[in-house]
Amino acid sequence: MNIILLGPPGAGKGTQARRLVEERGMIQLSTGDMLRAARASGTEMGRKVAAIMDAGGLVTDEIVIGLIRERLADDGGAGFIFDGFPRTLAQADALGQLLADEGQTLDAVVEMRVDDEALVARITARSTCATCGEVYNDLSKPIPADGVCETCGGTEFKRRADDNEDSLRTRLMEYYKKTSPLIGYYHAKGNLRVVDGLGAIEEVAAAITVALDR
Ligand code: AMP
Repeated sequence: MNIILLGPPGAGKGTQARRLVEERGMIQLSTGDMLRAARASGTEMGRKVAAIMDAGGLVTDEIVIGLIRERLADDGGAGFIFDGFPRTLAQADALGQLLADEGQTLDAVVEMRVDDEALVARITARSTCATCGEVYNDLSKPIPADGVCETCGGTEFKRRADDNEDSLRTRLMEYYKKTSPLIGYYHAKGNLRVVDGLGAIEEVAAAITVALDR
């Protein structure tokens, strides 16, 4: 089963994608993670996108579609979870074509709905394990008191450079202008399933399970 997790920054897409990877053996394809990896390894593309990402803008469709194209050739196993992709109508069209070329289908688009106030609070409180990427949040899931990541035992944690209020404002505006039209697009295609993304991690996970197994 191939699915998209759709929602604004801070909706919990990455957190829920990681659960689906663990529980169902699906493969998470996060264009944000791929772009951050390109930056960290200092590739030319990584250098090119750095300033755009820090400011909260969208990198070009061409770059992110290229990243997804490379990964779709891998064995999808129990299916792909697209996390943070597509973010524009052009990306959505391209994904449909890429899947069709691989003889695959898109089975569900899960829209995670969260109000803006909650997003700002969540994002400014967010940090991740530098080793495994486990997501923590000062409000809902603090870093363990002993400073050791519960998933991998790592002891270093970092905040994303773009998790600040200025960049977040731009990211939200980009979401409403360029990404939210995808809600109508997938609704018209009959793929859309909406879940309330505001609850505790387990509650949202349960709602996603119901939406996927419906
Ligand atoms: P994310 O980790 O999904 O929040 O993405 C972090 C940043 O990477 C975004 O603010 C964009 O600058 C860039 N990015 C990630 N995915 C995409 C995409 N599908 N299209 C354009 N830019 C993206």
